[in-house]
Amino acid sequence: MKKPSAGNRDTLQTIIDFLPTGITMFNAEQQVVVCNQNFRTLLDFPDSLFVDGMPFLRDLALFNARRGEYGEGDPQTLADQVCERARGMQPHVFERQRPSGVILEIRGEPLPGGGWVSIYTDITDRKRNEEDLRRVKDMMSAAINFSPTFIWETDAAGNYTRLQGIEHILGYAESELLGHQRCSTLCDADHIAGCEVEMRMEAREAIERQVVETRTKTGGIVWLSTSAQPIYDPRGAYLGYRGVDVDITEITRARQALEQLALHDPLTGLANRRKFQDRYQLECRRQGRAGLPLSLALVDVDHFKQVNDTWGHIVGDVCLKAVADLLVSQLRTTDLVARFGGEEFLVLLPDTNSREGVLVAEKLRRALEISVIDIGLTAQPTLKITASFGVMTLLPTEKLSLEAAIERADHAVYAAKRGGRNQVCAAGSAVPETHAADGPS
Ligand code: GH3
Ligand code: MG
Ligand code: MG
Repeated sequence: MKKPSAGNRDTLQTIIDFLPTGITMFNAEQQVVVCNQNFRTLLDFPDSLFVDGMPFLRDLALFNARRGEYGEGDPQTLADQVCERARGMQPHVFERQRPSGVILEIRGEPLPGGGWVSIYTDITDRKRNEEDLRRVKDMMSAAINFSPTFIWETDAAGNYTRLQGIEHILGYAESELLGHQRCSTLCDADHIAGCEVEMRMEAREAIERQVVETRTKTGGIVWLSTSAQPIYDPRGAYLGYRGVDVDITEITRARQALEQLALHDPLTGLANRRKFQDRYQLECRRQGRAGLPLSLALVDVDHFKQVNDTWGHIVGDVCLKAVADLLVSQLRTTDLVARFGGEEFLVLLPDTNSREGVLVAEKLRRALEISVIDIGLTAQPTLKITASFGVMTLLPTEKLSLEAAIERADHAVYAAKRGGRNQVCAAGSAVPETHAADGPS
C-alpha cells in the first residue's frame, strides 16, 4: 500500500476527525496508518498506546485482551487470534458490547493493496430504542392476545390494512381479512348498529363504544364494542381509521338474561308489569307527538278458579301458557302482551282507536273461544276456555297514568263479566259488544 504524503495525511486526518464514527486504516503489516480521535474515545484507548507512533493491531488487541474486552482467556492467545482473523479478512459487519455496556457496530473493508479500514459506530442508543420498541410491541401483543380485544387500521377506503388479535375472537386469520372492507366483513346489513359504524366512518367521526352484533367465521354471534377514530398524516391528509374492538358477548348475554328475569314473567315468558309500564309510557309520548290514539285491553280468563279446582294447578299453568302464546300469535310485533297477574293479561295496542281496539279484542276473544288446549290428561286430553275483555282507548290529547288506564279497562272487564263473560266491552260503553257461551267446557 502506498504511504500517504505528509500533506495528504494532514488533510485526511482533518476530514476523518470530523466524522461522527471511529475510523482506522491498517496497512498490510497490521499497523494503524491513520485513525481519528473518535476511534480512540469510543474504544477508550489511552494516549500511551500512541506515544511511540501508530500502534499495531497486536498492541491494541493485547491491550483489549488484558482489560477483558474479549472475555476470559490468556491475553497473548486472544490477541494472536484477533491478528490471525484480520489476516484473511473479508468485508464484515458485527456488533460488540464493551464491558462498559457500550455497543459498537464494527464494519471492516479490506483494501486493494493489503490492509483494511474499520469503522466503529456507537449504536447503544439505537439498540436501546430498538429494544424498548420491541418490548412495547410485545407488551401490546400480550395485552391484546390475553384480553378479549382486537385492534385494527383501515385505509381511506375502509379496507383493513392492519389487524391484531381478531382470530381469537372471530376465528378469521388476520391474512384472510387484510385488504377487505371492515364493515362488509363485520356488519350484517340488517344490523343497524353495524351500519352506524359505517356511517360514522364515512362522516369521519369518532366512534365511541358502538355496540355491533356480528358473527364469527363459523356463524356464532359475537357482540363487539367498537371505538375508533380517523387517522391523518402529519400534513393532514386522511389515511383511514384506527380502532379497538372489545368482545362484550359474555356481558351482553348476562345483561340480556338479567333483563329477561327482571322484565318478564317466568311462567309465560311474557313481559311483566314493569316492562309494560315502560312501554306504555314510551307509547304515550309517541302517540302524543304523532297525534295517534292508543288502546289497551285487559283480558281476564273466565272461571279460571274452576280449572284449577277441577284439574289442578299444573293444568292451570298449562292453560295460562297456552293463552299467552295464543294472544302473542294473534298480535302485531309492535303490540305488547304482558301478564298482569294471576289469570289476567294486558295488551297494549299502539296506533289503535277505540273501534279498532274492540275489533282486535274481539279477534282475540274469538281465537281463544275456538282454540283447544292440550292438557295431556288421560281423563281429559283437551280443554276449552274463554276470557272476558275490557278495552279502553287513550286519545292523543289525553294524559293518563297506567293505573288509571287499567282501572278504566277493569271496569269494562267487570261489565263483560256481568254481561255473561266471553265477551268484549269497551270502557265507557254499558252495552257489551259481544255475547257468547259462558265458562270453561
Ligand atoms: P272470573 O270469571 O270471575 O274471572 O272467575 P275466575 O275464577 O277466573 O276468577 P278468580 O279471581 O275467582 O280466580 C282466579 C284464579 O286464578 C284463582 C287462582 O287460583 C288462579 N290463578 C292465579 N294465578 C295462577 C297461576 O299462576 N297458576 C294457576 N294455575 N292458577 C292461577
Ligand atoms: Mg281475575
Ligand atoms: Mg278470571
